[in-house]
Amino acid sequence: MKDYRMFINGEWTTARAGTTRDIINPANSELLARVPEAGPADIDDAVAAARRAFDSGPWRSITALDRGKLLFKLADLIRQKSDYLAELDTLNNGKPLVESKFDVTDAANCFEYYGGLATKIHGESLTVPANSFSFVVKEPIGVVGQIIPWNYPLLMAAWKLAPALAAGNCCVLKPSELTPLSALELAAMIKEAGFPDGVVNIVTGGGSPAGQALTEHPGVDKLVFTGGTVTGRKVMTAACVDLKRVSLELGGKSPNIVFVDADFEAAVDGALFAIFVNSGQVCSAGSRLIIDESIHDRFIQAVVEKTKRIKLGPGIDPETKMGPLVSETQRARVEGYVEIGKKSAAKLLIGGGRPGDKKFEKGFFVEPTIFDNVDNKSEIAQKEIFGPVLCVIPFKSEDEAIAIANDSPYGLAGAVWSTNVTRALRVIKQLRAGITWINTYHPTYNEAPWGGYKQSGFGRELGTYGLEEYLEIKQININLDEAPIAWY
Ligand code: NAD
Repeated sequence: MKDYRMFINGEWTTARAGTTRDIINPANSELLARVPEAGPADIDDAVAAARRAFDSGPWRSITALDRGKLLFKLADLIRQKSDYLAELDTLNNGKPLVESKFDVTDAANCFEYYGGLATKIHGESLTVPANSFSFVVKEPIGVVGQIIPWNYPLLMAAWKLAPALAAGNCCVLKPSELTPLSALELAAMIKEAGFPDGVVNIVTGGGSPAGQALTEHPGVDKLVFTGGTVTGRKVMTAACVDLKRVSLELGGKSPNIVFVDADFEAAVDGALFAIFVNSGQVCSAGSRLIIDESIHDRFIQAVVEKTKRIKLGPGIDPETKMGPLVSETQRARVEGYVEIGKKSAAKLLIGGGRPGDKKFEKGFFVEPTIFDNVDNKSEIAQKEIFGPVLCVIPFKSEDEAIAIANDSPYGLAGAVWSTNVTRALRVIKQLRAGITWINTYHPTYNEAPWGGYKQSGFGRELGTYGLEEYLEIKQININLDEAPIAWY
């Protein structure tokens, strides 16, 4: 059990009101740590620190090269502590250690990627119909408020901080109230790396009042949010008041389409990885398996057989393939959808309950669950469950597969499995989604833009696109005529 403090203006602080929150290990309900529970006064402090650092602090004049070097240093520090950080994310979030290790490496890579990009923020010169030297420069937006969910605690912090800092912004980041620990460890590394005080502030607390206070704060220039669509709407509404810039990365109900000519084994494995990695708590999860009717029976049988082999357990056990859900609330939400599914016309093929073994009793485990012959219009096919629940939906023709895939309020991700590259590309081109794969599911690259169509949000993270989200664009015009214009 460790008592943590928040990180505001380069210092470790308790909440002004003295309030704290218990942080729980979801695999066994044990108390892991205690963190401050920020209120509006703490958010004021954090935003004021970020404002000072941006408006008058050393961050204003630091060169892009030095910003990049700081990001490289941070990546090094993350690598030095990678085992510790991975264990911490596993204990706090529940995911298998192998997944946390991957996240930590990816987080370090993300800081390095943007460390390199810091010196590649270029404007352009313009050809205008006047004797003018006209050009465009890109400048940081200012103070950004960043709010992240619990499914990738360290990695989501990296996705937010790395591009914002590379572009020269100052940040107030609020991790999820369920999983703040690795972000606070990251804060210690930010201090050790030598970022000036106030450039990064990490505040811990719930959606309300802490998150809400950050979204409503007049000292914040831009809000960047990853989380559920309902909360995303609230963030956008708050941003409307003073027209803050806003980027939203929200939920999904992504289609994973398997054609008759797919590599059978690869597609079976891909269908499972698409939905069961991180216990299905992935925004881009392939939660709708849209399967060619002609191979449906054989495919589903193989999927179910492999699902039986998924070993549940605490993430910290190296044998574990699937950990618990993040919280009791999340489990109740997932179980609620499973009950809705059981009452629908869909057929429950496997799972649908909690594992029976006594050793799972105190953790928030749910068995990997598959519903077959799901109607795409039904609730379990339309709502984001955010748990290990797969909906199987058969199709008869390519057009029908595309129609089913796009019949969703979301448009985050999607995949097609087919060895016919013409067909695969033809279908991918018609998917209304921002992240797509052919003959694979889930690979995520720091270099590639991440974000959704429709109600999955707008704006893009990662890649050069992610950097642009943190930049303002300014035109500068220099008059080259000596004579005055003499309008009057
Ligand atoms: P959530 O929306 O409940 O919470 C996300 C964050 O918002 C948390 O830090 C929370 O404290 C904060 N928050 C809650 N209410 C708030 C308010 N009124 N004002 C400001 N902040 C508030 O989401 P969650 O349950 O933590 O995460 C799951 C959701 O995140 C899923 O819907 C998932 O699809 C989505 N997600 C999306 C992506 C993506 O890139 N598109 C990535 C990961 C997760």
